[in-house]
Amino acid sequence: MEKREKLYEGKAKIMFATDDPSLLIQHFTDNATAFNGKKKGIIKNKGIINNKITAKIFSMLEEKGIPTHFVEVINDREMLVKKLDIIMVELVVRNIAAGSLANRLGIETGTELPFPIVEYYYKSDELNDPMINEWHIKYLNLATPEELQYMVDTALKVNDILKKFFDERDIKLVDFKLEFGRHDGKILLGDEFTPDGSRLWNKSDNYILDKDRFRKDLGFVEEAYEEVCRRVCGE
Ligand code: ADP
Ligand code: UDP
Repeated sequence: MEKREKLYEGKAKIMFATDDPSLLIQHFTDNATAFNGKKKGIIKNKGIINNKITAKIFSMLEEKGIPTHFVEVINDREMLVKKLDIIMVELVVRNIAAGSLANRLGIETGTELPFPIVEYYYKSDELNDPMINEWHIKYLNLATPEELQYMVDTALKVNDILKKFFDERDIKLVDFKLEFGRHDGKILLGDEFTPDGSRLWNKSDNYILDKDRFRKDLGFVEEAYEEVCRRVCGE
């Protein structure tokens, strides 16, 4: 497998073509952004950590029957993935109120939700990733009702698997964002699962182990990512 041209550079990752048109290289950088790119910084070694965490979680999800784009790890910052036609709807699953849910609905941060809440956001940097509903998704032609149903069902399955997985590692899975895409007539889980796109709290004291440390300048950002990596990957 040969690395070819850069196809896209996003806020945290770079996608490269390969000599196989159905495969891409997903490269994780140390770049961190928050508030839709208004705050920028570097989290040292984040790319290496996020590559490891995503590889571990996606291979575990595959074993449990969730189809993902993950193929194999290539090196410390890169993984081989199946090329997706990304569905421009981000699914957020929440178990505990935090972030925009707490702010928008006036729910105290840390309130356990009696059931998981799923939300849709339109993946559009220009529009600031607005929250959308089924009607907007239909109007914008982002996904068919069947595709959306599959994504919701899969996101809830992923939540069940990951809640247990993190609980066994003394971490509360507060919320997370997933992206899906089309490949060979199937929908696969794509992108990443990392502390960049999830909220992870230490079980005993709710110590924050995710990108909120960067967003809110709480310090010990790299240490938090390393701690998640240690507990998830067993290092
Ligand atoms: P952003 O675009 O939000 O700045 P990233 O820096 O994470 O995000 O860039 C990675 C981009 O690659 C994202 O837009 C993501 O949707 C896309 N992507 C993730 N997995 C795949 C895949 N398997 N095939 C094609 N694109 C993908
Ligand atoms: N999230 C993400 N990308 C986005 C928006 C949110 O990965 O563009 C993740 C975020 O890290 C958190 C969850 O989705 O784990 C819910 O985010 P929220 O709506 O609370 O927004 P935030 O307050 O993080 O901007």
